[in-house]
Amino acid sequence: MGNAKKEQPGSPSPKPQKQQGATVIDMASMRCKADGCNKKSTRADFCEEHFEWFKMGLITREGKRAADFEKKFQQYMNQQKKAA
Ligand SMILES: [Zn+2]
Repeated sequence: MGNAKKEQPGSPSPKPQKQQGATVIDMASMRCKADGCNKKSTRADFCEEHFEWFKMGLITREGKRAADFEKKFQQYMNQQKKAA
């Protein structure tokens, strides 16, 4: 007997990391996916405004800007003017 391990100073025992990801992801899924938007998602992971953007093809399902965002955004703005 007497086979106990000696604790070495300066080497803290690894603590098991608690996983909190599930809660965070759940919260994030309630938010609009569009870049820089923190509004609550109301439709298909977007807020009302960005859901329109998504429908118009301005942003992808992931909330990224489309390749030809500038052009589509101009068209979108023109439509908004006409609708008003
Ligand atoms: Zn949004």
